[in-house]
Amino acid sequence: MKIELIKGDITKIKSDAIVNAANSSLLGGGGVDGAIHRAGGIDILDECRRIRNRQGKCNIGEAVVTTAGNLSAKYVIHTVGPVWNGHEEKESKLLANCYHNSLKLAESLDVKTIAFPNISTGVYRFPKELAGKIAVDEVRNFKSEVIEKVIFVCFDDENELIYKKLLD
Ligand code: ADP
Repeated sequence: MKIELIKGDITKIKSDAIVNAANSSLLGGGGVDGAIHRAGGIDILDECRRIRNRQGKCNIGEAVVTTAGNLSAKYVIHTVGPVWNGHEEKESKLLANCYHNSLKLAESLDVKTIAFPNISTGVYRFPKELAGKIAVDEVRNFKSEVIEKVIFVCFDDENELIYKKLLD
């Protein structure tokens, strides 16, 4: 899989699937979640509600898929990152699961390109350097015959710099 780094707003990225850093309610929130629901429109929330009615909340590290509504992507993959509480081993594993399960789901949908935000590094306060390392390791270790390109979308300068170093 090719890996690309883009600085900017994930809702503007051209990609088959974009990943949302959701919360376990799946009912929307701030940050990238708010941006995706605002730009994608009500169809995304409607489908999130249906998923909730079917399976209940989404557990940390897991991923579910909805339409991308008005976005140019085909799918939004919603994954729930861990809140950082300093339990490094446990929370790192959960963050790795977010990337892994999103990639597995994307593969099952025949997705060729997938864009990730920097999951958990906003209000969930995961240390950015560690989160970046986990994201890059997990993507590099995922071998796929289906997915051709993974795009890391960094919104802030700090994450952009971290990913630049990691991907060099
Ligand atoms: P979390 O609750 O998982 O921490 P946040 O949305 O608060 O989720 O933040 C996750 C990351 O998404 C942060 O690095 C934040 O800077 C970034 N972010 C916020 N808005 C956007 C956006 N429109 N596109 C891409 N990334 C974004």
